[in-house]
Amino acid sequence: MSGTEVIGRAVRWGRAAGRRPLGGVPAPVARVIVGVVLLGAAAGALVTLAPATAGHDPVVRLTWLHGVALIGALVLLTCVSELVAVRLRRQDASEELTLLDPMILLNVLLLAPREALSASLAGIALAYLIRRRTPVKAVFNLGTYATAASLMIVLVRLAAGHEADFDARLVAALLLGAAGFVAVNVGAMSVLFAAMGAGRLWELVREDARSAAFTLIATVALTATGVSIAAHTPVLLPVVVLPAAAITYAYRATATEAEERDRSARVLAFSQVLASSPERDDAVTAFLRLARDGFYADEVLAVMDGDNVLSLGAADGAEPRALAPTEELRRLAGRADRGAAVLVDGLPAGWSGALVAPLEAGGVRLGTVVIGRSGRGRFTPQDLSVLTPIASALAAALRNVQHLVQLVEESSKLRAVVDQSSDGILVLDNSGVVQVWNPALERLSGWSEAEALGARLGDLIETQDVDGNPVDAFEAGLQGLSPVARQVAVDLTLIRKDGERRSVRCIHAATFDAFGLVRDVVNVHDLTKQRQVEKMKSDFVATVSHELRTPVTPIKGYADLLRRKGDSMTPEKRAKALDVICDRAAHLARLVEDLLLASNVSTEKEPARTVVIESADLAQLATRATEDFSPAAGRLRLHVPAEPVPVACDPVRAVQVLTNLVSNALKYSPDDSPVDVEVGSDGGRARVTVVDRGRGLPADQLEQIFEKFHRVEDPMVMSTSGTGLGLYIARHLARAMAGDLEVTSTLGVGSTFTFHLPLAAPAPD
Ligand code: ADP
Repeated sequence: MSGTEVIGRAVRWGRAAGRRPLGGVPAPVARVIVGVVLLGAAAGALVTLAPATAGHDPVVRLTWLHGVALIGALVLLTCVSELVAVRLRRQDASEELTLLDPMILLNVLLLAPREALSASLAGIALAYLIRRRTPVKAVFNLGTYATAASLMIVLVRLAAGHEADFDARLVAALLLGAAGFVAVNVGAMSVLFAAMGAGRLWELVREDARSAAFTLIATVALTATGVSIAAHTPVLLPVVVLPAAAITYAYRATATEAEERDRSARVLAFSQVLASSPERDDAVTAFLRLARDGFYADEVLAVMDGDNVLSLGAADGAEPRALAPTEELRRLAGRADRGAAVLVDGLPAGWSGALVAPLEAGGVRLGTVVIGRSGRGRFTPQDLSVLTPIASALAAALRNVQHLVQLVEESSKLRAVVDQSSDGILVLDNSGVVQVWNPALERLSGWSEAEALGARLGDLIETQDVDGNPVDAFEAGLQGLSPVARQVAVDLTLIRKDGERRSVRCIHAATFDAFGLVRDVVNVHDLTKQRQVEKMKSDFVATVSHELRTPVTPIKGYADLLRRKGDSMTPEKRAKALDVICDRAAHLARLVEDLLLASNVSTEKEPARTVVIESADLAQLATRATEDFSPAAGRLRLHVPAEPVPVACDPVRAVQVLTNLVSNALKYSPDDSPVDVEVGSDGGRARVTVVDRGRGLPADQLEQIFEKFHRVEDPMVMSTSGTGLGLYIARHLARAMAGDLEVTSTLGVGSTFTFHLPLAAPAPD
């Protein structure tokens, strides 16, 4: 008989432990357990009491060992055979190879039935006690063994008889007894697994039958060899044990190697998940799966700092569950504070061993992983040395995820600042290609982000320096930038996509490295408004001082003349001098009033306060306005309807508006061309149109002439005096009276100003 056959095989409820380590026992399983226990008790009673088996003689009698010593030795050996097991774990179960089967057969051969049964059960129970097997599993297994061993006793005794010789009959009896034993074992386990829902009964039986047959032969071979040697040449007994031990260790090595191969494949899969820069939960889940399946764990926990606990149990499938962080879990996680460790005590109920490892990266503790096993099989320092680098890899991945999240958060904040800035912001690479183009810049330049990104700034936008020479905006900045002067401001004129010109100040902030410019961040501030205001201010000072000086000169001259030579002047000359003084003083007063009014109407609500609405006849007001221009009477043609045109207005202000229009019409058209003033009404509104045949206005100036201080830059206008305030005030007054002032004009042909006022109901007679 060869040594390879000396290994018995047991498939016990140990493997079921892997399926539901901590759960209760479901009703169908409980029924099977009770059934098996009752069967075991009945079979045991039957064997010990039945006359056929109740004898005191062993089947094979040893001359050198008997009585209590023999029983004690066999109990001890049975216990040891159960304890020394080699396990081969598979995905969802574990297989154990032990010498228990041959030991029980040995007990049956060497002891009387009652002792054989008791010694076997006592040995097994002792082993369970040592191993602290869950009571429910121990009870089930003992029930199974009681039944199987009883059947074995009956079969062997019936077939071999008492005091058998070492002949074919004994071997046949051994085969028969072992077959009965194995059949009961396989049957009971299959019924149990079927009750647990592990598969259909028949399939479970078939699954185990083949290896059971092999076990059977091995059991008989080992026992027969052992008993024969023990009976005849006991000195050679160790010869039986040695090959068995050799095979045991060979098997264990194979099993370990297979486990390691399996674990390596899982570690590889895990590292691939980490390499794919997963989300935080994906990385933790991948780790939990690896740890559960690679360490044959019954429960794996990731206790993250911030009290988020994920758990993956043997019965959980692929997705972890979130657990509430209990005090027990925190304590368990705390045991990794001094580094990874193998734990054997102080564990959650049902656990027999655990591994803990801190999740630490870059000196930051992110959490703890806990790997727990129930049942047989404690963790070893080798397990720990496998776990530690994997836990570090997970921690590093989690830290990266954390950095990534922070980075995304920070960059979205920055993006918001860039997007909401009222200044244009653009980022250029070292060759002036646009990388960032914010919404303010889209508004300022007219070029959209999509058009700008990837384009060279110089090719995209036309810019000019302060002297009006074309420049490349990027190059202009580059000239002032250097690793020591990283910031420079350049004032430019930017020509928008639609051709409009804008004054901008570009503030370049550059980043340099050892090879030169890395990027240029440019803040573009729109100075157009500011420039307009500046121009307006200087225009105002120039205009006002010029306008004030004009009437002051004759006043001063005539007053001086009157002082020095007044007495000798003729009354007519004196009267003329006084007239000029009065006239110019009145002009001065008007000018001052205009300035005051202009500053008053700057705020939208003010004009309303400067008008007092009453009803008046617009025809009369127009007539009054034209009367002021008696010297030009020949050019002025007034057209008024026969009926009065009743309007609601402030008569004084209406005349002021009309006077301004007529004055402009006369001023800005040739001295010999007529000016028509026509009063009428349309669509519920009264209107006065003032038509001249002057130079007219360019189309782009039609609105601008209503702005404060705006004067058209043409030679005729510049040669006439004026402040550019008249139309500004006139339109505000018109609107304050619920009317309006509009213009149409053709360059070189003439202009038509129309002053609208609301019609008033005619006064009752
Ligand atoms: P001022 O006449 O004092 O310059 P206004 O506000 O009355 O100021 O007019 C603003 C500008 O509008 C004038 O400077 C002139 O350029 C233009 N303008 C006004 N009326 C006419 C007109 N009838 N024909 C041509 N240009 C005109």
